[in-house]
Amino acid sequence: MPLGHELCAEIVEIAPGLGFAPGDRVSAETHLGCGSCAQCLQGRGHTCETLKTFTSLGLGAFGDYAVVPVALLRRAPTGIQDEQVASMEPAGIGLRAARHALRYGNNVTVSGCGPIGLFTILALRHLGATRVLAIEPSEMRRSLALACGAHDAIVPNTKTDTSTARQPDAVVETSGAPAALASALAMPRAGGGVVTVGLPAADVPVDVAGQIVLREIRLEGVYGRLVNEGWTDLQEALADGLDLSPAITHSYSLENYHEALDTAARSASGKVILRM
Ligand SMILES: [Zn+2]
Repeated sequence: MPLGHELCAEIVEIAPGLGFAPGDRVSAETHLGCGSCAQCLQGRGHTCETLKTFTSLGLGAFGDYAVVPVALLRRAPTGIQDEQVASMEPAGIGLRAARHALRYGNNVTVSGCGPIGLFTILALRHLGATRVLAIEPSEMRRSLALACGAHDAIVPNTKTDTSTARQPDAVVETSGAPAALASALAMPRAGGGVVTVGLPAADVPVDVAGQIVLREIRLEGVYGRLVNEGWTDLQEALADGLDLSPAITHSYSLENYHEALDTAARSASGKVILRM
């Protein structure tokens, strides 16, 4: 499978009349909806009944050139550096997760501080969250969480002040660890929410009686961005001063891709960039 679906690139060739021209700086959406099914017609192209994703199209951005369907192209905002443009796809997920969490209130906990967790923290602070707690096993990523604006960063299973006043309104779970999602459900105040972005590889035991019914915790998933509104929302946030750079920690040239992938896999990084 070709690798790489988060990109900043310059168009070198495109048919006329499509709204883009050679020389345009672009990023790309990952989800390609059919445009005509019930989901697409409801503005839910990211859950299209015949959804195609960037890499399932046989494409990949880890190279000097890539062929990208025009429907996926998104114009790069001016004044935003290439590394941040290349991070707009995952940052869009963080922004969407932050907006979902803030519907419950301004006190939000973020579980897992990989790139999407860090982008979520940046978005939460940009949108006015008054308290952001990060939960992350890696010391390096806890420091990154603080640099991104978290008020505190702790390791999982740390004893915290569980008084009602300190309970978060919502938790954003980005790690995908089944145990993290199970414990996230116990964290918010009654009536709060858990927004999960991570993809647990195994079934997660959920205390439906104790959490979902008796405490009315709402569990919701976020999958990608809303394919149009999500990009507009992020572009406006960037224009309004949202700075993604604290979450971007490494940049490698393509020939050093082994080192780049190792760095990303070791949990010793935020967002890792490859340069062609
Ligand atoms: Zn569709």
